[in-house]
Amino acid sequence: MHVGPPRRGRAVNDAAPARASSLIVEKYGGTSLADMERIRAVARNIAESAKAGHRMIVVVSAMSGETNRLLELAREAADAPSERESDVLLATGEQVSIALVTMALHALGVEARSHTGAQFRILTDQAHGSARIVEIRSERVQRDLQRGVVAVVAGFQGVDGDDNITTLGRGGSDTTAVAVAAALNADECRIYTDVAGVHTADPRVVPEARRLDRLTFEEMLELSGAGAKVLQIRAVEFAGKYNVPLRVLSSFAPGPGTLITNEDPKMEQPLISGITYSRDEAKVTIRGVPDKPGVAHQLLGPVSEARVNVDMIVQNVGADGLTDLTFTVSSGDLERSKKILAPIVAGIKGAELTGGGGLAKVSVVGVGMRSHAGIATAMFKTLFEKGINIQMISTSEIKISVTIDMEYTELAVRALHKAFGLEEAA
Ligand code: ADP
Ligand code: ASP
Ligand code: MG
Repeated sequence: MHVGPPRRGRAVNDAAPARASSLIVEKYGGTSLADMERIRAVARNIAESAKAGHRMIVVVSAMSGETNRLLELAREAADAPSERESDVLLATGEQVSIALVTMALHALGVEARSHTGAQFRILTDQAHGSARIVEIRSERVQRDLQRGVVAVVAGFQGVDGDDNITTLGRGGSDTTAVAVAAALNADECRIYTDVAGVHTADPRVVPEARRLDRLTFEEMLELSGAGAKVLQIRAVEFAGKYNVPLRVLSSFAPGPGTLITNEDPKMEQPLISGITYSRDEAKVTIRGVPDKPGVAHQLLGPVSEARVNVDMIVQNVGADGLTDLTFTVSSGDLERSKKILAPIVAGIKGAELTGGGGLAKVSVVGVGMRSHAGIATAMFKTLFEKGINIQMISTSEIKISVTIDMEYTELAVRALHKAFGLEEAA
Protein backbone atom coordinates (compact mmCIF):
# COMPACT_ATOMS: atom_id res chain seq x y z
CA MET A 1 0.00 0.00 0.00
CA HIS A 2 1.23 3.47 -0.80
CA VAL A 3 1.55 5.92 2.02
CA GLY A 4 -1.21 7.63 0.03
CA PRO A 5 -2.53 11.14 -0.29
CA PRO A 6 -2.86 13.32 2.78
CA ARG A 7 -6.19 13.03 4.54
CA ARG A 8 -7.86 16.21 5.68
CA GLY A 9 -10.23 17.13 8.43
CA ARG A 10 -10.14 13.85 10.31
CA ALA A 11 -12.23 14.12 13.46
CA VAL A 12 -10.42 13.54 16.72
CA ASN A 13 -12.37 13.19 19.88
CA ASP A 14 -10.31 13.78 22.95
CA ALA A 15 -12.68 12.17 25.39
CA ALA A 16 -14.01 9.15 23.51
CA PRO A 17 -11.96 5.98 23.80
CA ALA A 18 -10.92 4.40 20.50
CA ARG A 19 -13.60 2.12 19.01
CA ALA A 20 -13.24 -1.58 19.77
CA SER A 21 -12.24 -2.40 16.21
CA SER A 22 -9.82 0.52 15.97
CA LEU A 23 -6.38 0.08 14.51
CA ILE A 24 -3.86 1.43 16.98
CA VAL A 25 -0.14 1.94 16.36
CA GLU A 26 1.92 2.00 19.56
CA LYS A 27 5.60 2.95 19.51
CA TYR A 28 7.96 2.24 22.41
CA GLY A 29 11.27 4.09 22.61
CA GLY A 30 14.61 2.85 23.93
CA THR A 31 14.21 3.81 27.59
CA SER A 32 10.84 2.06 27.65
CA LEU A 33 12.71 -1.13 26.63
CA ALA A 34 15.83 -0.67 28.77
CA ASP A 35 15.86 -4.18 30.30
CA MET A 36 13.77 -7.36 30.47
CA GLU A 37 11.66 -6.00 33.32
CA ARG A 38 10.72 -2.96 31.19
CA ILE A 39 10.11 -5.17 28.16
CA ARG A 40 7.70 -7.30 30.17
CA ALA A 41 5.94 -4.13 31.37
CA VAL A 42 5.61 -2.95 27.76
CA ALA A 43 4.19 -6.35 26.78
CA ARG A 44 1.56 -6.02 29.51
CA ASN A 45 0.62 -2.58 28.19
CA ILE A 46 0.27 -3.94 24.64
CA ALA A 47 -1.70 -6.94 25.90
CA GLU A 48 -4.19 -4.60 27.56
CA SER A 49 -4.81 -2.72 24.31
CA ALA A 50 -5.06 -5.98 22.36
CA LYS A 51 -7.48 -7.49 24.86
CA ALA A 52 -9.68 -4.41 24.51
CA GLY A 53 -10.23 -5.66 20.95
CA HIS A 54 -8.01 -3.22 19.07
CA ARG A 55 -6.02 -4.34 16.07
CA MET A 56 -2.47 -3.56 17.07
CA ILE A 57 0.76 -2.65 15.37
CA VAL A 58 3.67 -2.10 17.73
CA VAL A 59 6.81 -0.28 16.57
CA VAL A 60 9.89 -0.64 18.75
CA SER A 61 13.28 1.07 19.08
CA ALA A 62 16.52 -0.55 20.10
CA MET A 63 17.05 -1.02 23.86
CA SER A 64 18.38 2.23 25.35
CA GLY A 65 22.06 2.85 24.70
CA GLU A 66 22.24 0.10 22.08
CA THR A 67 22.39 2.33 18.97
CA ASN A 68 25.17 4.39 20.59
CA ARG A 69 27.05 1.21 21.49
CA LEU A 70 26.83 -0.04 17.91
CA LEU A 71 27.98 3.32 16.53
CA GLU A 72 30.99 3.17 18.83
CA LEU A 73 31.84 -0.33 17.56
CA ALA A 74 31.65 0.89 13.96
CA ARG A 75 34.09 3.69 14.81
CA GLU A 76 36.47 1.15 16.32
CA ALA A 77 36.27 -0.99 13.18
CA ALA A 78 37.19 1.81 10.79
CA ASP A 79 37.89 5.55 10.81
CA ALA A 80 35.21 6.11 8.21
CA PRO A 81 32.92 3.08 8.36
CA SER A 82 30.97 2.24 5.19
CA GLU A 83 27.51 3.80 5.31
CA ARG A 84 25.92 0.64 3.96
CA GLU A 85 27.56 -1.59 6.59
CA SER A 86 26.78 0.93 9.36
CA ASP A 87 23.10 0.53 8.53
CA VAL A 88 23.41 -3.27 8.55
CA LEU A 89 24.94 -2.95 12.01
CA LEU A 90 22.56 -0.34 13.45
CA ALA A 91 19.47 -2.23 12.31
CA THR A 92 20.39 -5.13 14.61
CA GLY A 93 19.40 -3.07 17.66
CA GLU A 94 15.76 -2.93 16.64
CA GLN A 95 15.81 -6.60 15.54
CA VAL A 96 16.71 -7.65 19.10
CA SER A 97 13.77 -5.61 20.43
CA ILE A 98 11.12 -7.03 18.08
CA ALA A 99 12.06 -10.59 19.04
CA LEU A 100 12.12 -9.92 22.80
CA VAL A 101 8.86 -7.94 22.83
CA THR A 102 7.14 -10.63 20.74
CA MET A 103 8.39 -13.39 23.08
CA ALA A 104 7.17 -11.41 26.11
CA LEU A 105 3.75 -11.08 24.43
CA HIS A 106 3.64 -14.84 23.79
CA ALA A 107 4.41 -15.38 27.48
CA LEU A 108 1.23 -13.42 28.26
CA GLY A 109 -0.80 -15.53 25.86
CA VAL A 110 -1.04 -12.80 23.22
CA GLU A 111 -0.66 -13.88 19.61
CA ALA A 112 2.08 -11.78 18.04
CA ARG A 113 4.64 -11.90 15.24
CA SER A 114 7.75 -9.83 14.63
CA HIS A 115 8.66 -8.08 11.37
CA THR A 116 11.93 -6.42 10.39
CA GLY A 117 11.69 -3.30 8.23
CA ALA A 118 12.43 -5.45 5.17
CA GLN A 119 9.74 -7.99 6.03
CA PHE A 120 7.20 -5.24 6.66
CA ARG A 121 8.22 -3.83 3.26
CA ILE A 122 9.17 -0.39 4.51
CA LEU A 123 10.71 0.86 1.29
CA THR A 124 13.05 3.85 1.43
CA ASP A 125 15.37 5.84 -0.79
CA GLN A 126 19.07 5.01 -0.77
CA ALA A 127 20.28 7.68 1.67
CA HIS A 128 22.01 5.44 4.21
CA GLY A 129 21.80 6.90 7.71
CA SER A 130 19.02 9.34 6.85
CA ALA A 131 16.77 7.44 4.47
CA ARG A 132 13.26 8.61 3.66
CA ILE A 133 10.30 6.23 3.53
CA VAL A 134 8.80 6.18 0.04
CA GLU A 135 6.33 3.34 0.30
CA ILE A 136 4.94 0.80 2.76
CA ARG A 137 3.48 -2.45 1.38
CA SER A 138 1.28 -3.80 4.09
CA GLU A 139 -0.26 -6.96 2.54
CA ARG A 140 1.66 -9.30 4.84
CA VAL A 141 0.68 -7.49 8.01
CA GLN A 142 -2.96 -7.11 6.93
CA ARG A 143 -3.33 -10.89 7.13
CA ASP A 144 -1.99 -10.87 10.69
CA LEU A 145 -4.21 -8.01 11.74
CA GLN A 146 -7.32 -9.70 10.39
CA ARG A 147 -6.54 -12.79 12.47
CA GLY A 148 -6.02 -10.69 15.60
CA VAL A 149 -2.24 -11.20 15.65
CA VAL A 150 -0.25 -8.25 17.04
CA ALA A 151 2.37 -7.09 14.53
CA VAL A 152 5.64 -6.07 16.19
CA VAL A 153 7.70 -3.99 13.76
CA ALA A 154 11.32 -2.83 13.93
CA GLY A 155 11.45 0.97 13.89
CA PHE A 156 14.21 3.07 12.34
CA GLN A 157 14.92 0.68 9.46
CA GLY A 158 13.79 -0.09 5.93
CA VAL A 159 15.16 -1.34 2.64
CA ASP A 160 15.97 0.52 -0.56
CA GLY A 161 15.02 -0.54 -4.09
CA ASP A 162 17.93 -3.03 -4.12
CA ASP A 163 16.99 -4.53 -0.75
CA ASN A 164 19.92 -2.86 1.01
CA ILE A 165 19.12 -2.20 4.67
CA THR A 166 18.72 1.52 5.38
CA THR A 167 18.14 3.52 8.57
CA LEU A 168 16.09 6.68 9.00
CA GLY A 169 18.34 8.85 11.21
CA ARG A 170 18.52 9.13 15.00
CA GLY A 171 15.14 8.95 16.65
CA GLY A 172 13.75 7.43 13.43
CA SER A 173 11.43 4.92 15.10
CA ASP A 174 9.00 7.79 15.66
CA THR A 175 8.88 8.25 11.90
CA THR A 176 8.36 4.53 11.29
CA ALA A 177 5.39 4.58 13.67
CA VAL A 178 3.76 7.59 12.02
CA ALA A 179 4.39 6.30 8.49
CA VAL A 180 2.90 2.91 9.37
CA ALA A 181 -0.09 4.64 10.98
CA ALA A 182 -0.56 6.77 7.83
CA ALA A 183 -0.17 3.84 5.42
CA LEU A 184 -2.63 1.64 7.29
CA ASN A 185 -5.04 4.45 8.10
CA ALA A 186 -4.70 3.87 11.84
CA ASP A 187 -7.08 5.56 14.24
CA GLU A 188 -4.32 6.75 16.53
CA CYS A 189 -0.57 6.66 16.81
CA ARG A 190 0.67 6.49 20.40
CA ILE A 191 4.28 7.35 21.08
CA TYR A 192 5.24 5.84 24.46
CA THR A 193 8.34 7.35 26.03
CA ASP A 194 9.92 8.10 29.42
CA VAL A 195 8.11 11.39 30.12
CA ALA A 196 4.38 12.04 30.61
CA GLY A 197 4.03 13.92 27.32
CA VAL A 198 5.37 16.99 25.57
CA HIS A 199 6.30 19.58 28.19
CA THR A 200 6.89 23.34 28.22
CA ALA A 201 10.62 22.47 28.38
CA ASP A 202 12.71 19.33 28.70
CA PRO A 203 11.66 18.03 32.15
CA ARG A 204 15.24 16.84 32.70
CA VAL A 205 16.44 20.45 32.56
CA VAL A 206 13.40 22.21 34.02
CA PRO A 207 11.77 20.03 36.68
CA GLU A 208 8.84 22.52 36.91
CA ALA A 209 8.02 22.08 33.22
CA ARG A 210 4.32 21.47 32.62
CA ARG A 211 2.81 18.77 30.45
CA LEU A 212 0.91 20.23 27.50
CA ASP A 213 -2.54 18.73 26.93
CA ARG A 214 -2.73 19.55 23.23
CA LEU A 215 -0.51 20.95 20.52
CA THR A 216 -0.90 21.57 16.83
CA PHE A 217 1.36 19.86 14.28
CA GLU A 218 2.75 23.29 13.46
CA GLU A 219 3.82 23.99 17.06
CA MET A 220 5.28 20.51 17.47
CA LEU A 221 7.18 20.91 14.22
CA GLU A 222 8.84 24.04 15.58
CA LEU A 223 9.52 22.41 18.97
CA SER A 224 11.12 19.35 17.34
CA GLY A 225 13.01 21.49 14.85
CA ALA A 226 14.37 23.56 17.72
CA GLY A 227 15.70 20.50 19.51
CA ALA A 228 12.88 18.93 21.58
CA LYS A 229 13.92 15.38 20.82
CA VAL A 230 10.79 13.88 22.33
CA LEU A 231 9.57 13.47 18.71
CA GLN A 232 11.73 13.22 15.61
CA ILE A 233 10.94 16.15 13.30
CA ARG A 234 10.29 13.92 10.30
CA ALA A 235 7.64 12.05 12.29
CA VAL A 236 5.84 15.33 12.97
CA GLU A 237 6.08 16.37 9.32
CA PHE A 238 4.58 13.07 8.29
CA ALA A 239 1.84 13.23 10.91
CA GLY A 240 0.86 16.72 9.75
CA LYS A 241 0.92 15.82 6.07
CA TYR A 242 -1.21 12.70 6.48
CA ASN A 243 -3.24 14.05 9.37
CA VAL A 244 -2.36 11.23 11.78
CA PRO A 245 -3.36 12.18 15.34
CA LEU A 246 -0.37 11.62 17.59
CA ARG A 247 -0.40 11.06 21.32
CA VAL A 248 2.84 11.24 23.30
CA LEU A 249 2.60 9.46 26.64
CA SER A 250 4.61 7.68 29.32
CA SER A 251 5.16 3.94 29.28
CA PHE A 252 6.06 4.20 32.98
CA ALA A 253 2.90 5.75 34.42
CA PRO A 254 -0.70 6.08 33.23
CA GLY A 255 -1.95 9.47 32.05
CA PRO A 256 -3.52 11.29 29.13
CA GLY A 257 -0.22 12.47 27.59
CA THR A 258 -0.18 15.14 24.89
CA LEU A 259 -2.44 15.01 21.84
CA ILE A 260 -1.03 16.54 18.67
CA THR A 261 -3.50 17.28 15.87
CA ASN A 262 -4.49 19.87 13.32
CA GLU A 263 -5.29 23.27 14.70
CA ASP A 264 -8.65 23.53 16.36
CA PRO A 265 -9.90 27.06 15.73
CA LYS A 266 -11.84 27.02 18.98
CA MET A 267 -8.77 26.11 20.93
CA GLU A 268 -7.42 28.86 23.17
CA GLN A 269 -3.83 29.28 22.04
CA PRO A 270 -1.24 29.87 24.70
CA LEU A 271 1.22 32.64 23.93
CA ILE A 272 4.28 30.43 24.30
CA SER A 273 4.16 26.65 24.15
CA GLY A 274 7.71 25.92 25.14
CA ILE A 275 11.41 26.60 25.48
CA THR A 276 13.75 24.23 23.67
CA TYR A 277 17.46 23.79 23.28
CA SER A 278 19.87 21.96 21.09
CA ARG A 279 23.42 21.41 22.30
CA ASP A 280 26.56 20.66 20.31
CA GLU A 281 26.05 23.25 17.64
CA ALA A 282 28.94 24.81 15.73
CA LYS A 283 29.30 27.86 13.53
CA VAL A 284 31.22 28.44 10.35
CA THR A 285 32.06 32.00 9.24
CA ILE A 286 33.35 33.19 5.89
CA ARG A 287 34.58 36.79 6.02
CA GLY A 288 35.29 39.11 3.12
CA VAL A 289 33.29 37.49 0.35
CA PRO A 290 32.09 39.61 -2.60
CA ASP A 291 28.62 41.06 -1.99
CA LYS A 292 27.11 39.90 -5.27
CA PRO A 293 24.47 37.44 -6.52
CA GLY A 294 25.37 33.76 -6.30
CA VAL A 295 27.81 33.90 -3.40
CA ALA A 296 25.56 32.18 -0.85
CA HIS A 297 24.84 29.49 -3.42
CA GLN A 298 28.51 29.06 -4.27
CA LEU A 299 29.37 28.53 -0.59
CA LEU A 300 26.34 26.69 0.79
CA GLY A 301 25.49 24.58 -2.28
CA PRO A 302 28.40 22.13 -1.87
CA VAL A 303 27.81 21.91 1.89
CA SER A 304 24.19 20.87 1.51
CA GLU A 305 25.05 18.56 -1.39
CA ALA A 306 27.27 16.69 1.08
CA ARG A 307 24.07 16.23 3.15
CA VAL A 308 25.27 18.48 5.96
CA ASN A 309 22.25 19.92 7.71
CA VAL A 310 22.72 23.69 7.71
CA ASP A 311 20.56 25.40 10.33
CA MET A 312 20.78 29.15 10.97
CA ILE A 313 22.24 31.29 8.20
CA VAL A 314 23.16 34.93 8.77
CA GLN A 315 24.61 37.26 6.16
CA ASN A 316 25.67 40.76 7.06
CA VAL A 317 24.68 43.88 5.15
CA GLY A 318 27.55 44.42 2.73
CA ALA A 319 30.09 47.23 3.09
CA ASP A 320 32.69 48.22 0.48
CA GLY A 321 31.46 45.45 -1.79
CA LEU A 322 32.23 42.74 0.77
CA THR A 323 30.10 40.78 3.21
CA ASP A 324 30.33 38.04 5.89
CA LEU A 325 28.33 34.83 5.98
CA THR A 326 27.86 32.69 9.09
CA PHE A 327 25.91 29.46 9.40
CA THR A 328 25.46 26.77 12.04
CA VAL A 329 25.77 23.00 11.74
CA SER A 330 25.89 20.27 14.38
CA SER A 331 29.35 19.89 15.94
CA GLY A 332 29.74 16.50 14.27
CA ASP A 333 29.55 18.19 10.84
CA LEU A 334 31.95 21.08 11.58
CA GLU A 335 35.18 19.59 10.25
CA ARG A 336 33.49 18.17 7.16
CA SER A 337 31.92 21.56 6.38
CA LYS A 338 35.25 23.33 6.75
CA LYS A 339 36.96 20.77 4.53
CA ILE A 340 34.36 21.29 1.80
CA LEU A 341 34.63 25.08 2.04
CA ALA A 342 38.41 25.44 2.33
CA PRO A 343 39.19 25.10 -1.41
CA ILE A 344 36.25 27.34 -2.38
CA VAL A 345 37.23 30.08 0.09
CA ALA A 346 40.88 29.77 -0.99
CA GLY A 347 39.69 30.65 -4.49
CA ILE A 348 38.08 33.92 -3.32
CA LYS A 349 40.72 36.62 -2.96
CA GLY A 350 40.94 38.00 0.59
CA ALA A 351 38.22 35.71 2.00
CA GLU A 352 38.78 34.01 5.34
CA LEU A 353 37.24 30.84 6.80
CA THR A 354 36.83 30.31 10.56
CA GLY A 355 34.66 28.02 12.67
CA GLY A 356 34.21 26.57 16.10
CA GLY A 357 31.93 24.42 18.24
CA GLY A 358 30.71 24.64 21.83
CA LEU A 359 27.47 26.43 21.03
CA ALA A 360 23.85 25.80 21.90
CA LYS A 361 20.68 27.00 20.27
CA VAL A 362 17.90 28.06 22.63
CA SER A 363 14.44 28.81 21.24
CA VAL A 364 11.11 30.19 22.39
CA VAL A 365 8.20 28.66 20.44
CA GLY A 366 4.52 29.63 20.38
CA VAL A 367 1.74 30.40 17.91
CA GLY A 368 0.70 33.32 20.13
CA MET A 369 3.74 35.18 18.83
CA ARG A 370 1.83 35.94 15.67
CA SER A 371 -0.42 38.33 17.51
CA HIS A 372 1.86 39.53 20.30
CA ALA A 373 4.79 41.84 19.95
CA GLY A 374 7.55 41.98 22.52
CA ILE A 375 8.43 38.30 22.87
CA ALA A 376 11.87 38.82 21.34
CA THR A 377 12.56 41.81 23.59
CA ALA A 378 11.52 39.84 26.67
CA MET A 379 13.78 36.98 25.60
CA PHE A 380 16.81 39.21 25.03
CA LYS A 381 16.23 41.04 28.33
CA THR A 382 16.10 37.74 30.27
CA LEU A 383 19.37 36.54 28.71
CA PHE A 384 21.00 39.92 29.35
CA GLU A 385 19.98 39.79 33.03
CA LYS A 386 21.72 36.43 33.33
CA GLY A 387 24.82 37.82 31.62
CA ILE A 388 24.45 35.47 28.63
CA ASN A 389 25.85 36.77 25.36
CA ILE A 390 23.77 36.17 22.23
CA GLN A 391 25.87 35.25 19.21
CA MET A 392 23.26 34.78 16.49
CA ILE A 393 19.51 35.32 16.25
CA SER A 394 17.00 33.81 13.86
CA THR A 395 13.22 33.92 13.80
CA SER A 396 10.27 32.25 12.17
CA GLU A 397 6.64 33.30 12.45
CA ILE A 398 6.23 31.35 15.69
CA LYS A 399 9.80 30.89 16.96
CA ILE A 400 12.79 32.95 18.08
CA SER A 401 16.15 31.17 18.33
CA VAL A 402 19.47 32.40 19.63
CA THR A 403 22.88 30.75 19.75
CA ILE A 404 24.82 31.07 22.97
CA ASP A 405 27.83 29.49 24.62
CA MET A 406 26.89 25.86 25.37
CA GLU A 407 27.83 26.09 29.04
CA TYR A 408 24.87 28.46 29.64
CA THR A 409 22.25 26.16 28.08
CA GLU A 410 20.50 25.10 31.30
CA LEU A 411 20.71 28.58 32.82
CA ALA A 412 19.12 30.11 29.71
CA VAL A 413 16.36 27.50 29.39
CA ARG A 414 15.42 27.75 33.08
CA ALA A 415 15.50 31.56 33.10
CA LEU A 416 13.32 31.80 29.97
CA HIS A 417 10.88 29.18 31.27
CA LYS A 418 10.43 31.29 34.40
CA ALA A 419 10.37 34.65 32.60
CA PHE A 420 7.50 33.53 30.37
CA GLY A 421 5.57 32.11 33.36
CA LEU A 422 5.41 28.62 31.90
CA GLU A 423 5.55 26.78 35.22
CA GLU A 424 2.18 28.20 36.28
CA ALA A 425 -1.01 26.38 35.36
CA ALA A 426 -2.41 27.72 32.07
P1 ADP B 1 12.54 7.51 23.36
O1 ADP B 1 13.68 6.64 23.77
O2 ADP B 1 11.25 7.11 23.99
O3 ADP B 1 12.42 7.73 21.88
P2 ADP B 1 13.76 10.14 23.61
O4 ADP B 1 14.92 10.18 24.55
O5 ADP B 1 14.02 10.12 22.15
O6 ADP B 1 12.84 8.92 24.05
O7 ADP B 1 12.78 11.37 23.91
C1 ADP B 1 12.28 11.58 25.22
C2 ADP B 1 13.11 12.65 25.92
O8 ADP B 1 12.91 13.90 25.26
C3 ADP B 1 12.71 12.92 27.34
O9 ADP B 1 13.34 12.03 28.24
C4 ADP B 1 13.13 14.37 27.55
O10 ADP B 1 14.36 14.46 28.27
C5 ADP B 1 13.37 14.90 26.13
N1 ADP B 1 12.67 16.17 25.87
C6 ADP B 1 13.25 17.27 25.32
N2 ADP B 1 12.40 18.26 25.23
C7 ADP B 1 11.21 17.81 25.70
C8 ADP B 1 9.92 18.41 25.87
N3 ADP B 1 9.66 19.67 25.50
N4 ADP B 1 8.93 17.66 26.41
C9 ADP B 1 9.17 16.38 26.78
N5 ADP B 1 10.37 15.76 26.65
C10 ADP B 1 11.39 16.46 26.13
N1 ASP C 1 17.44 3.33 17.91
C1 ASP C 1 17.45 4.52 17.10
C2 ASP C 1 18.17 5.66 17.82
O1 ASP C 1 18.65 5.49 18.92
C3 ASP C 1 16.08 4.93 16.65
C4 ASP C 1 15.15 5.38 17.75
O2 ASP C 1 15.38 5.14 18.94
O3 ASP C 1 14.12 5.96 17.41
O4 ASP C 1 18.29 6.73 17.28
MG1 MG D 1 13.26 9.10 20.49
